[in-house]
Order: sequence, then C-alpha cells, then structure tokens
Amino acid sequence: MKLERKAEIIAVGSELLLGQIANTNAQFISKQLAEIGINVFYHTAVGDNPERLKQVIKTAQERSDFIIFSGGLGPTKDDLTKETIAEVVGRPLQLDEEAFQSIEDYFKKTNRTMSPNNRKQALILEGSDVLPNRFGMAPGMLLEHESRFYMLLPGPPKELNPMFENEAKPLILEKLGSKEKIVSRVLRFFGIGESQLETDLEDLIDAQTNPTIAPLAADGEVTLRLTAKHADPAETERLLKETEDRILERVGEFFYGYDDTSLVEELAKACVRKGMTLSAAESFTGGLFSSWLTELSGASEYFRGGAVCYTNELKVSAAGVSEETLNRFGAVSAECAKELAAGIRNKTGSDIGISFTGVAGPNTQEGHPAGKVFIGVSVNGKAEEVHEFMFAGSRSAVRKRSAKYGCHLLLNVLGK
Ligand code: ATP
Repeated sequence: MKLERKAEIIAVGSELLLGQIANTNAQFISKQLAEIGINVFYHTAVGDNPERLKQVIKTAQERSDFIIFSGGLGPTKDDLTKETIAEVVGRPLQLDEEAFQSIEDYFKKTNRTMSPNNRKQALILEGSDVLPNRFGMAPGMLLEHESRFYMLLPGPPKELNPMFENEAKPLILEKLGSKEKIVSRVLRFFGIGESQLETDLEDLIDAQTNPTIAPLAADGEVTLRLTAKHADPAETERLLKETEDRILERVGEFFYGYDDTSLVEELAKACVRKGMTLSAAESFTGGLFSSWLTELSGASEYFRGGAVCYTNELKVSAAGVSEETLNRFGAVSAECAKELAAGIRNKTGSDIGISFTGVAGPNTQEGHPAGKVFIGVSVNGKAEEVHEFMFAGSRSAVRKRSAKYGCHLLLNVLGK
C-alpha cells in the first residue's frame, strides 16, 4: 500500500478537554513520526463521546492516510475508541487470544482478579496487527483498511511511549517497505546556550539529512538528538560517529555525556575514575548540590560531606572562613567563596572542596543583585579558583543552575 505519509493524531479523553491533563501523547507521537519522515498535519483532542469521535474520524478520513489514536482502550464503558472505529470503518472486533492470555498473565502477576470487562481489552479490530503492551493491559493495534492506516495506542504515556518506540515504529517502517533501522543518540551539552550552539552548528543543522540533528533546550542544558537510518547497523554507527565528531570538533568543550546521563552522574563517574574525594560548603544552595550527589548510590565512595553554612557564623565555624574576609568583602564575594572551598576541603580531608555563595533572590543582598553567584573550587596542591556568574531567573532556577555549574566546573577539573 502506498502511504502518502499524511498523518494526524486523535487523542481521546474528556480529561484533555477539561484541562486536567496535557496532551503530551500527541507531542510524543509527532516527534517520533518526524524522526521517520512522516508528516503530522493535525492534532485533535476529543472527549469520550461516540458521536463526536465518529465525526472526528470521518473528518480525518477525508484528509489523512495515517490516523493515530491515543486513549480509550481501557476496560470501562466510556473507553470507546475501538468500538467507534469499528463502526465507522465497518470492521468487526474480535478476541485476540494472545492479548487475552497476556491480560490474564498480567492479573496473575499483579495478584488481582480479572473482571469480565477486562475481556473487552483483548478485542482487536479484525485483521489488524497487534502491538503488545509490555507495561499495561490494553494492546495497541495497526489496521490497514481502504488505503489508510489506523493505529490505536493506550492513553497512559508509560504504556504508549515504549509501545510506540519498540513495537509501532518498526512496524510502520516495515509497512512502508523500509529495511532501514533507526538509531538515535543524544549528545548533552552544558555551559552553552541553545542559540549559540545552533549558530556554531548552523551549516551542519541546515544540511542534515542522515543523521538528522534535533536540538532541544531544557533546564539550562542543550541536547542534540542525532538519528540515523540505514539497513546496515555498522553503517548507522558510522554515520552517527561521523556527525558526532564534526559536532564535537566545534562545541566539544561543552559536551558532557550521552543519552540519559546527567551532569551529576558524570561527575560521580569522574570522581570514581580519578579516585578523588569531594566536599561541599553550600550557602544559598542550601545543600542542593550535596543532595544531588547523595541521591546516587555509592556516593560515599567519593563524597565525604560538607556543610550548609547559610549564616556568616556557620561560614566561620563550619568552613573556617575568616571574620576579616567577611567584614572586608562580605559573604557574597570571591574571597569568601575561595575560603569556603579551601576550608571545607581542609576540615573534611577531601581532595576537592567546592563552595557556593551568592544571592538566590528575589531580593538583593549586600548590594549584590539577585542571581550574583560565586563558586569556589579548591583542589589539593593547587591554587583555589573562583568563578563568578550572574544568573537570571527565579530563586529556584538560580539555585539549580548554580548546582549544575558546580558539577560542570568540577568535571572540567577532573577531566570528562
Ligand atoms: P487504561 O488501560 O488505563 O484504561 P486507556 O487507553 O483507556 O488506558 P485512557 O483511559 O484514555 O487510556 O487514559 C488513561 C490515562 O492516560 C489518563 O488518565 C491520562 O493520565 C493518560 N492519558 C490519556 N490520554 C493522554 C494524552 N493524550 N496525553 C497524555 N496523557 C494521556
């Protein structure tokens, strides 16, 4: 079947219309389809109402050849996506034995009793390919009918996302006659803004075909998702590597890791690799940096602890800052950051000390504006370094950004 690749997404669920949930499924599916070159032209959200859903399906049939539904595959009466599609396209529903078995197994595994209406979840549109649900009960499906594809996916994102990536996407490619396999790799950057990164890579981004390069900025970080397609996995790897090398040649100093990693995880790995220990003296970050590190199991191997020294008294007693420094330069100063970092390193006997002092805001402090931050780094046997920043944003954003910069600075010290 020749698909013109004109797709649209219909999200079913009254909660969407009541504003109780955001239609993140449409966003996720659109992004996934873009990666395999399928254009999405419409997003629709419709309530759990058969008449209105019928109307929406008919409209979709007039303008699209690939219609993707999310939600309404559950066991209850108001879950009516399948039944309504069956009626509009004139295909009956039939019990899928394998899906039924997997629902029974799911109940056994979770120690619950199956009710008769759970059988409804094992009904599929006759002749469709079943997309197994490995994280829930309702299976998804793909039906080819009168030169259109109808894809039905469950509502919960934790079921829909893996089903789409692992089951639906390969099936779509197969249906499109493609022998190609898709492989994605995410490169993570910190310390460079999205617009700067895009400017530095403008020609590469403009010329992208295979792999595609998709930038995304979130939480003060920028990521690039590279997606390559090829029938030969070795060639996919070569394509990815070649593009990655060209990108890193230009912006490699800001690169810190791949895929789902984080700055703090990379910092932890670097400490282990170098066999170095770390302590922190935190003023306005209130222990945020230390808390991130201790969220990781095995943190005791490299993190010795430190102090939340919010007041000047604590800066003196817990981290050994001199009263004279505080009187002369104030707590929000390069001098104080330096003494905090060196002091906490000495007091704890760590190889590295890091300090955070600054103004989280919204009010000014000691004549400094909100967002003024000093991060001190003290490494055994080396002169202390202090990095001064002026961050924009809310109190919480300033604190998080500072803790991230702390990780970034230490990664530079330790080597990535
Ligand atoms: P279930 O097996 O849970 O009954 P279902 O396929 O019937 O699944 P719905 O009942 O429509 O799905 O939705 C279940 C949950 O999935 C919703 O409460 C909501 O949390 C989430 N959800 C549904 N649609 C969307 C959407 N478009 N975007 C994001 N989340 C959604």
